[in-house]
Amino acid sequence: MITTPEIPLTRLDDADPELLRELLDAVARVAESAAFTLGPEVEAFEAEYAAYCGTDHAIGVSSGTEALTLTLRALEIGFGDEVLLPANSFIATAESVTLAGATPRFLDVDPQSALITAEIVQAALGPHVRCIVPVHLYGQTVDLRPIVALAREHGIAVIEDACQAHGALLGGRRAGSLADAGCFSFYPSKNLGAWGDAGAIVTNDERLAERVRMLRAHGERTRCEHEIVGTTARLDAIQAAVLRVKLRHLDEWNAARRHAAAALAEALRDTPVVPPAPPHRGADHVFHQFVIRCEHRDALRAHLAKAGIATAIHYPVPIHLTAAYAGDGRNPQPSLPVVERLAKRILSLPMHSAISDEEIARVGAAVQAFHR
Ligand SMILES: *Cc1c(COP(=O)(O)O)cnc(C)c1O
Repeated sequence: MITTPEIPLTRLDDADPELLRELLDAVARVAESAAFTLGPEVEAFEAEYAAYCGTDHAIGVSSGTEALTLTLRALEIGFGDEVLLPANSFIATAESVTLAGATPRFLDVDPQSALITAEIVQAALGPHVRCIVPVHLYGQTVDLRPIVALAREHGIAVIEDACQAHGALLGGRRAGSLADAGCFSFYPSKNLGAWGDAGAIVTNDERLAERVRMLRAHGERTRCEHEIVGTTARLDAIQAAVLRVKLRHLDEWNAARRHAAAALAEALRDTPVVPPAPPHRGADHVFHQFVIRCEHRDALRAHLAKAGIATAIHYPVPIHLTAAYAGDGRNPQPSLPVVERLAKRILSLPMHSAISDEEIARVGAAVQAFHR
């Protein structure tokens, strides 16, 4: 029987009464204005998010997947084009490529950082590659500068998948602001989360911003003038209102996550599990997930569950091996040894901005107990 409370993997806004009240007031304001899609609340969030990221434009959309898909479409990347992406991401990174009509080409990753590098990208370049989508996985920033330089040399685009890295810094600039465009998800459990599905694109490219704005709303620049084939992918005003309140706390929450991650790594010091590798110079980690590497992963996971500690695996099946992409083995896929090995050893431990010292100590003690 578990007598101590469960330690959750993450925590949502209902756990913070003061924040919840502020958010409910913001939602009430939108409801009373009866402006539910786009409008002043969305425009205000877009201006504030662009300023936060240090970009000229932010365009609010309905999800991170739409942010990626519409950016690819706006860059006219589609049928016959190949897009390079890491295989150890959330499947949405690949889905967006497929939805845009292009072909995802899956990359292996650096064994230390679990991120792609310029060397890995270089080895995968080919005549049909038109875009690279680096993923700041778990909140750790990819070393983008050499990847962007390589892409410029070859005339190909770089879209940052920053869906797990809101507010992370790279050489003093925000993740998402360093390439042609950066895409964000505001799924509720992300470091900056809405009250449902939401996303955004940030960019300094005026033409790209204009096209994404049209694509998210049926190709309209002016109401009822459909210039291109678009879709329904607008950001809701209620989500924008929630995000505006929470954006003001993002830096403080990310700092709390970094602090908690350092304490958790310390609590695991005398165990054989490997905590997240320290970021390379000039990089950052905002710990969307705190992912350890370990042997006997499934047994450790069961042990932690019994101790009331929630865990998860991000992600149990690399994208190139999912039924969606491998088609039960019918579609030939590359062998990606690093990604495939990591998938068997990774484990996400509880991590959020309000995790307590006591909870961190309990996680550390439970991991230690497993190894005794
Ligand atoms: C969450 C996420 C997405 C997709 O975002 P949705 O808002 O769920 O569509 C894309 N890429 C990565 C790496 C993510 O973590």
